[in-house]
Amino acid sequence: MKLDAVRAAESRLLLSTYERNPLLFERGESVYLIDEKGDRYLDLLSGIGVNALGYRHPAIEEAIATQSRALIHTSNLFFHEGQAALAQRLVDRMGLDRVFFANSGTEAWEAALKLSRAHAGLLRAEGRNIGTKFLALEQSFHGRTFGSVSTTAKAKYREPFGPVVPGVEFVRFNDVSDLRAKFSNEVCAVLVESIQGEGGIRPLTQEFFNAARELTQSTGALLVVDEIQAGLGRTGKWCGYQHYGILPDITTLAKPLAAGIPLGAVLCTEEVARAIHPGMHGTTFGGGPLACAVSIAVIDAIESEGLLEHIVEVGNYFRESLHALAKRHDLIVDVRGKGLMLAAEVESAHLGAYVVKEMLKRHIVINCTSETALRFLPPYILEKEHVDHAIVALDEIFTEYEAAHAVGGVSQAGGQVHG
Ligand SMILES: *Cc1c(COP(=O)(O)O)cnc(C)c1O
Repeated sequence: MKLDAVRAAESRLLLSTYERNPLLFERGESVYLIDEKGDRYLDLLSGIGVNALGYRHPAIEEAIATQSRALIHTSNLFFHEGQAALAQRLVDRMGLDRVFFANSGTEAWEAALKLSRAHAGLLRAEGRNIGTKFLALEQSFHGRTFGSVSTTAKAKYREPFGPVVPGVEFVRFNDVSDLRAKFSNEVCAVLVESIQGEGGIRPLTQEFFNAARELTQSTGALLVVDEIQAGLGRTGKWCGYQHYGILPDITTLAKPLAAGIPLGAVLCTEEVARAIHPGMHGTTFGGGPLACAVSIAVIDAIESEGLLEHIVEVGNYFRESLHALAKRHDLIVDVRGKGLMLAAEVESAHLGAYVVKEMLKRHIVINCTSETALRFLPPYILEKEHVDHAIVALDEIFTEYEAAHAVGGVSQAGGQVHG
């Protein structure tokens, strides 16, 4: 089998950053991944929220083919037609004014952090009293580069690389009084995800989001919302913050932005954009002609195929199905999320890993984040019949687990036993 040879070679040659699932995918088709043996897997993860239009979408294939024949890269020293055309689509939908393109989520987030510091510097130069501190949230995830890990809560992502970027304090998630206690003129920006992704699909409360908006507005500090996982339609709106009626000063996009071609973006207001001048920030690859052409195709397909409405409909159906499943199985302790960004929280990390493995045996791809959150980030083109198929499989897995461990819908045995 190819898998065994590849695995052996990787274990010699690659840094061991991932414990991969024992599968080697060779092709994709619609919502399915196809492995080396020709087996089809229903994909409810879409490459961690990236393959928003599934696989072999004709608009994506066409955009890649056409643009690759014309021009793939120019550097940012020259004009091409893609950046402004894409930026126009983004600002029209997200409610902000200006865009900078990067190659990944973490790079977009770095740009957001740098913009925040530069903006505070500008305000100080104008005589305002504002510091350089960031407030980030517990359970947050913003990426793997230094600024991003510095604002990411999980210690195992941060501590091996210390000292990280100084000036970051963490606020308890959705705790308004902790936010008020830690907020001051020292703060240049409050950093949130509208719905925490890696942290377990946890939406901000309206109350917390409102408080963050009001506090930042009171001093000139910025509200920076990371939409890298929740943004570009996944929740049924273009951005997660639009569910709350809140407009941030800065937002970041990446994962589904160019459907698998690396692309990130940071969007900001005209006020924030004042802080940046030529030479202060840049990128060799970011916003290249190929990535921009594909991203335009993604946005146009989401619109022409009515996918935002589709996401709301199938997402609601999926969430209700998970709620019904949770009623039948006490091992599921919570169901969270919006649109096609959903999680079923299970009782133990052991059970989470077990369910992922059992789903793979049944040829369904999901993952488990934050130890206990079974996470669903399917392609936007998912249909109700796919949801039904996944729910039947989950029902079977929980029923078998309960029978094997004699928990019978009561949850005390989870976590102590082997799968
Ligand atoms: C994935 C993710 C990132 C980092 O994106 P990369 O492209 O992996 O660098 C940042 N923030 C959030 C919310 C994410 O989900």
